Amino acid sequence: MPFWKHAAAREGSGIFCRVGLKRAAHEILLAALSWLLVWCAVAEADPTATSGLLAEGTRWETPFYVSNSGVDGPTLLVVGGVHGNEPAGSRAAEQIRHWPVLKGRLVVVPKANVAGLAAKTRFLPGEPEDRRDLNRNFPGDRREDGARGRPAQALWQFVEEQQPDWVLDLHEGYEFHVSHQPPKSKEKSVGSSVIYLKDPCLDPIARRMQEAANGLVSDPARRFVLLDRGPKKTSLVSACTRHLGVRGMILETTFSRQPVSLRTRQHRAMVNVLMRHLGMIDRDCVDVLTPSRPCETTLVALYDGPGTSAGSVGRLTGIVDRAPGMVSNHLGPADMRPAVLKRFDVIVFPGGSGSKQARAIGPEGRKHVRSFVRQGGGYLGICAGAYLCSAHYSWSLDLIDTAVFTGWREIEGVGRKSMWYRGGSAVVKMQLTDEGKKLFPDVPERVEVKYQNGPIVSPKQDPELSPYRVLAYFRSENALYEPQRGTMIDTPAIVAGRFQRGRVISISPHPEAVPGLHSIITRSIRWLAGPSPPASYEHCGGPCFVVEWKYGRAARHTDRAVGSAVAAPLPPSGRVGRAARGYGALERSLAPVQRQLSLCAGASSARAVVGPD
Ligand SMILES: [Zn+2]
Repeated sequence: MPFWKHAAAREGSGIFCRVGLKRAAHEILLAALSWLLVWCAVAEADPTATSGLLAEGTRWETPFYVSNSGVDGPTLLVVGGVHGNEPAGSRAAEQIRHWPVLKGRLVVVPKANVAGLAAKTRFLPGEPEDRRDLNRNFPGDRREDGARGRPAQALWQFVEEQQPDWVLDLHEGYEFHVSHQPPKSKEKSVGSSVIYLKDPCLDPIARRMQEAANGLVSDPARRFVLLDRGPKKTSLVSACTRHLGVRGMILETTFSRQPVSLRTRQHRAMVNVLMRHLGMIDRDCVDVLTPSRPCETTLVALYDGPGTSAGSVGRLTGIVDRAPGMVSNHLGPADMRPAVLKRFDVIVFPGGSGSKQARAIGPEGRKHVRSFVRQGGGYLGICAGAYLCSAHYSWSLDLIDTAVFTGWREIEGVGRKSMWYRGGSAVVKMQLTDEGKKLFPDVPERVEVKYQNGPIVSPKQDPELSPYRVLAYFRSENALYEPQRGTMIDTPAIVAGRFQRGRVISISPHPEAVPGLHSIITRSIRWLAGPSPPASYEHCGGPCFVVEWKYGRAARHTDRAVGSAVAAPLPPSGRVGRAARGYGALERSLAPVQRQLSLCAGASSARAVVGPD
């Protein structure tokens, strides 16, 4: 049996009970031996990442991923999406599969019930009632009974092949266990709990996982609990525990009244505790949601925290995840930090309330979003998100040079009213500009779009910001009060601009709510994720330069362009480059890529300033 399986049992067993010099010598020898063992293991480590399909060729076909550290250690199986109406488990598993494993193997099945997830239903769509719940289809009393139905059979066979030491099944309850009072005859929801079978080995680690999740909970009515009576018979974790001797837990968050970003963070926090305990990771990975760069996929962060409308978030999630080569991850206020943001290409702030979004992420979060864009990230703001990125309010992000038509007016017979509010949702006319037609070639020039009190913008003329360009104008308007009449028609509906190395698009109406206009969202995201100019760089001491390139597909494209024209001045990843030859060659090679480039070289220092095109 490998040592990690018996780590708990061995503690205090008396191996090291002898005292005195003999013990010291013994310990030194042991330490040297274990160092040698660790060294050999590290020296031989050959990490591999493989993937495959379960139930291949059927409608239950779903991917699995195996990260093998190459170092002897435990195998942990993480499963998500067994119930299709519990998206956070599936999304968290998909994020966790990118964690760098240093010991053992991490095996992840993020979408166990792939058809249920697509249909957003708990059950296996189309299966007979007695076996439609995937988590009741695994072997119960007798292993030889086997699993019932194709998806459970495929997963069960996979588990038997992989021989995990641990299994974590990520789920969601419909209500908080602590505060939920179900009607008589109804079962209490298991939302926000760790479900496992009481065991002296599991109790301490389950408690630590519960504490980690509760570290993200401020409302006592929403706290996590331990439910140690064990998972239901015929569930995946129960079958693994009973028949395969695997240690297992079900980790439940609660989908009621909580954004996905919080629920996935709670899942990650719990899994992080176990993986650190097992030595599979040596640092906290709660902030790791995506593959590390460079990566072929456009990584889109979608803010879903306080101040967002569930409809706008849901529609944008669907549009991004359906787009080829694009994937969404939900971020909340706790994620508005460089460690999380740096892994994304574009951040999207959806509809809702701009001031509430600003308040929720706070001054620190706003600073980090600004610096994400400044360093080359893309920002897409829709309605509330367009207010948020404006240069208008004390709480706004100042990413694009827009002032907002608002202010208070006394309306006769009504009272003092703020002019940004124009009543309920409306349909208005919008016309693309020539530049808009270029960016959105599959959208007709004149369209109707849903409008819900988005900002009416004009140039703020902030000297710190570059002027925006208009991609579309409103050609009709929505007005509730007399002073608003004529103030919306022919004003910009969509504007784009640069913020230092990053790009910004601000959309006042809601194209995500109009089926024919979804490509406005995806085309915007693709443009926003495009190449960012290199940071201005300075170096003292002769003809060399330091370049910081943005990672990702676009950056590699830029690198190649440079590498082909200048004699090997840049390493492939482009962190630091040294050029023995003149700057003229660099300038010429960069010119087609970056439209404005001014490069000044002095006797002892060089500074390149690459401006926006
Ligand atoms: Zn479930």
